[in-house]
Amino acid sequence: MTRSRACAGLPNTKRDDIMRAMKASDLFKTYYPFSDKFKNRFWSNTKRSGSGCLEWQKFVYPSGYGAASINKHSIRAHRLAYMISRNSDPGDLFVCHSCDNPKCVEPSHLFLGTHTDNRRDCAAKGRTHRPIGALHGMAKLTADNVSEIRSRYASGETQLRLSIVFNVSNQQISRIVNFKTWRD
Ligand SMILES: [Zn+2]
Repeated sequence: MTRSRACAGLPNTKRDDIMRAMKASDLFKTYYPFSDKFKNRFWSNTKRSGSGCLEWQKFVYPSGYGAASINKHSIRAHRLAYMISRNSDPGDLFVCHSCDNPKCVEPSHLFLGTHTDNRRDCAAKGRTHRPIGALHGMAKLTADNVSEIRSRYASGETQLRLSIVFNVSNQQISRIVNFKTWRD
């Protein structure tokens, strides 16, 4: 089983991933809503690169991911960046990079992927589903994306989950699965 470097890190067992996710969720519960002081301290450890990425300047895990340390808890910096910027807990989802830069914590370069995507390359998915598009409510989906959404919906994934994974609105997912757009 292989997984994108930018999605889950290497090497990493499934168990490790679950442990991390649990810790991150606990951390979210403890610190949410994040204070301005908390956020400012986090962002002060970053630096904008020439490529547009916002790179973590503190400790970096051997896997290449930035590591933020909070009261003896260690958390992947990009995961915390996602929590802070979106005010939401990714739960059991992975926070993936559209830019393929594991040190990057730029919110618009981060998107969510699921365990069920483990045979897929999350980085490639990110290039298809630019998170910035979703922020403007006009994310572009390819015909392939649309058929994937329909088949995953038919296999039991919820519209909410699909809207998160594909970074588009619930309404857009609803229109797609109800065949109100992309007639083919
Ligand atoms: Zn980036």
